[in-house]
Amino acid sequence: MSEETKKAAYRFDTQKVRAGYEPKDHKYAVSPPIYQTASYDFRDVENAKNLFSFKEQGFLYTRVGNPTVAVLEERVRVLEGAAAAIGVASGMAAISYTLLNLAEGGGRILTSPFLYGGSADSFKKIYPKFGIHFDIAKNLEHPEKLGEEIWPDTKAIYIESISNPNTVLLDLDAISKVAHEHGIPVVVDNTVATPYLYHPFAHGADIVVYSATKGLSGHGNLIAGLILESGTFDYKTEKFPQFSEKYYTLRDESGTYRSFPEVFPEAPFTARIRFNYLNYFGAALSPFDAYLSIVGLETLSERLSKQSENAHKLALYLSSNEKVEWVRYPALEESPYHQLYKRDFEKGAGGLLSFGFKGNEKQKEAFLNAIELFHYHVNIGDARSLIVNSPQTTHGELDDQEKAAADIPENLIRISAGLEDSDDLIADLEQAFQKAFSIN
Ligand SMILES: *Cc1c(COP(=O)(O)O)cnc(C)c1O
Repeated sequence: MSEETKKAAYRFDTQKVRAGYEPKDHKYAVSPPIYQTASYDFRDVENAKNLFSFKEQGFLYTRVGNPTVAVLEERVRVLEGAAAAIGVASGMAAISYTLLNLAEGGGRILTSPFLYGGSADSFKKIYPKFGIHFDIAKNLEHPEKLGEEIWPDTKAIYIESISNPNTVLLDLDAISKVAHEHGIPVVVDNTVATPYLYHPFAHGADIVVYSATKGLSGHGNLIAGLILESGTFDYKTEKFPQFSEKYYTLRDESGTYRSFPEVFPEAPFTARIRFNYLNYFGAALSPFDAYLSIVGLETLSERLSKQSENAHKLALYLSSNEKVEWVRYPALEESPYHQLYKRDFEKGAGGLLSFGFKGNEKQKEAFLNAIELFHYHVNIGDARSLIVNSPQTTHGELDDQEKAAADIPENLIRISAGLEDSDDLIADLEQAFQKAFSIN
């Protein structure tokens, strides 16, 4: 067995601490170095020419590639079983570059009502100004009818694997099947699930985007994003004329212009993002944030399994609390998504859950003000437990109708379970409930 084949066969927990990094290529440094440099010297004139004509691979300028960022890209690529990965400055950059790359020049994206607030708000406010319009699908939970919502200019389906804040799960296998019958790819925001809990490519996804700010890195100390592609979707069709465009910069030795799929047949989607969007729009990931993400990834499985455990205990505690109207967490047997959870999520449901506070607005405010251990802020996926009133904060941009469609009632409180002792977390919620209901 070659060294390469042996390494490719390593399992998830080995890959998460090893993939994409060889100490011998970096002066035998055990921890991946932070390549804090803007640019890279050319070896000679020939090398410069080869780099610019893609004959040789290498680093030119950190806006389009950096060795520390490359370790993160390769590590996540291996964990997801993707053809290629690209790191960008934030989850929002990952989403916008992906959608622009798909629908540039105009078009429609079929999406879900169950989305991260920043996604939902930007889909409504910003993208239409670039000719990209969103249809909120009515049939995501009835994929057999989803084809009726795909128009000739629909360029992709965009969903979240575990939605934020509602933990809605969808049958991605069935959705992908319909998308592919219509010649369009499926983009999955896998931020909440992380590669530990869910592999969108195994269920038919074509592109996966991450906010690596959240559970992927897991310590609330950086902003980063990633885009991955399966390598199996054919973009050389009439729907995506931008992928057939031939560029002078991609010319071969005889001077013939070439397209991205011709030069990068295994990964045309991320190559086009790197050399068009990252290169020209410039939301590059900093080497330091890439380094922190690599370190965070080393404990991905351990964090996500403990967070799933803690979240499940909190969900059970809240379910039995008479001050709670409802609890949403797919691992609960009464969850409408429990069957899908059992089918697709063998390692747990993750750290995110939400509940309905049964009390008046004043009591809800008193409850949040009385919380001591949980952090009250808008992030998720941190090692520390977080709590927030989503409808008034993270999803505060949605109007009443949109909140109703997204199933976000005004009394929703979101929790992102951290790594603390669950008894301490439950005791904190309990004392806050008591304080809240001691007022009227
Ligand atoms: C936070 C988040 C984003 C945005 O990521 P940033 O890194 O904050 O830009 C996108 N999708 C989901 C599901 C998120 O939770």
